[in-house]
Amino acid sequence: MMDIVERLAAELGEGRVLTGGAIPERHHADTAGLPPTAPRAVVLPRSTEEVSAALRLCHAAGQPVVTQGGLTGLAGGAHPREGEVVISLERMRGVEEVDTDCATLTALAGTPLQVVQEAAEAAGLLCGIDLGARGSCTIGGNIATNAGGNQVLRYGMARRNVLGLEVVLADGTVVRSLNKMLKNNAGYDWTQLFIGSEGTLGIVTRVVLGLHPRPEGVATALCALGSAAEALALLAALERRFGGGLLVFEGMWREFIAVATERLGQARPFEATHEVLVLVEAAVGDAARLEDALGDFVEAGLIRDAVVARSGRDRARLWAYRETPYEYRTVFDRYVGFDVSVPRARIGEAVTALRAAATARWPDAAQVIFGHIADSNLHVMVMPPGADAAMKDMIERVVYGIVAGFGGSVSAEHGIGRTKRPYLALSRSPEELALMGMMKRALDPSGLLNPGRVL
Ligand code: ZN
Repeated sequence: MMDIVERLAAELGEGRVLTGGAIPERHHADTAGLPPTAPRAVVLPRSTEEVSAALRLCHAAGQPVVTQGGLTGLAGGAHPREGEVVISLERMRGVEEVDTDCATLTALAGTPLQVVQEAAEAAGLLCGIDLGARGSCTIGGNIATNAGGNQVLRYGMARRNVLGLEVVLADGTVVRSLNKMLKNNAGYDWTQLFIGSEGTLGIVTRVVLGLHPRPEGVATALCALGSAAEALALLAALERRFGGGLLVFEGMWREFIAVATERLGQARPFEATHEVLVLVEAAVGDAARLEDALGDFVEAGLIRDAVVARSGRDRARLWAYRETPYEYRTVFDRYVGFDVSVPRARIGEAVTALRAAATARWPDAAQVIFGHIADSNLHVMVMPPGADAAMKDMIERVVYGIVAGFGGSVSAEHGIGRTKRPYLALSRSPEELALMGMMKRALDPSGLLNPGRVL
């Protein structure tokens, strides 16, 4: 009798199923930093029908599977466990259609986000999903994790950009709603259930995205503020002044700027040290309009200082501060990173509490706080020299405890995966967890899809 791997190879063809040394090492891990693990096999389907056949066989054999896309996830959702079969969507790529009248784009799940963005751009439209990993992450992974990013305040998380989905259920059934209509209230919108489910309820194979008009005349500025409360006042003032034109509102607290200037050699953005700097982008038509607005705000005492980009080079220089975390590996031997959210009104209090807790417990550790203030999303990093696993656990317990105390979330945009699973109950009530368990059991009764992730 054939085992499951032989059956997969027999059904899909030898070239679709890799085992042993034929498995490229990239399939051994995602970006969460867990120890690499070789899966039992890697299946590389080229069509929805092949995904369906693979799941049908795995379901019949009781074989656990883990779905992989671009492997840029930070929570271990796509990181294989011993004995699992990987279903990688990397060969299911391609934008199938851009419909300019409907302003929609249809793509296979394994299409890299950047390819989706470029197809939208070529049609004079914009994909509302954007994040740093755009070159390697896939649109299917973005949807499975309900990805966020830097323009969520304008376009929402991945969820708000999805109009239709095709998914394969645990038993291989294909369910399709390639809807292109903004309005469609014909019963439950089941597609929403799969967005952010991190591969635990089914495999997304095809997606219809709603596209947006391309914003014109985008201006960039860096604003200096004395507190998180001042940043929220600036946010409200910009929204009043520019309506839906505000695209980016990224906060960087003073320790973050100190690392950028003192450790990574960037020029000081302002003479004085300020509690928080905010990188702003808005579609204002002309940079002078943003400059006028910020000039008024300085005069009114709403902000302490500001600099507006006058050229593409200026813009790159301002964005370079926000992008310094990508260089942290060059100056810190390790760090413990967080992706949390707290209600916007309490961000200032939360920053004070996090800072005090880290300073009291780990005085030698550098700590930085930055994030998407408008989305209530903070990224916190604590860099203790020579931290071991026990210290990492301790830091996580302290930070998540503080976040929970503010009624916040242990995952704002990266998902729960494996790494945050022990902390899910800090952000969800027993009734919510029970409801999630009911959904999981209804859609994956044998528990074969991404087991040990999320729930
Ligand atoms: Zn982020």
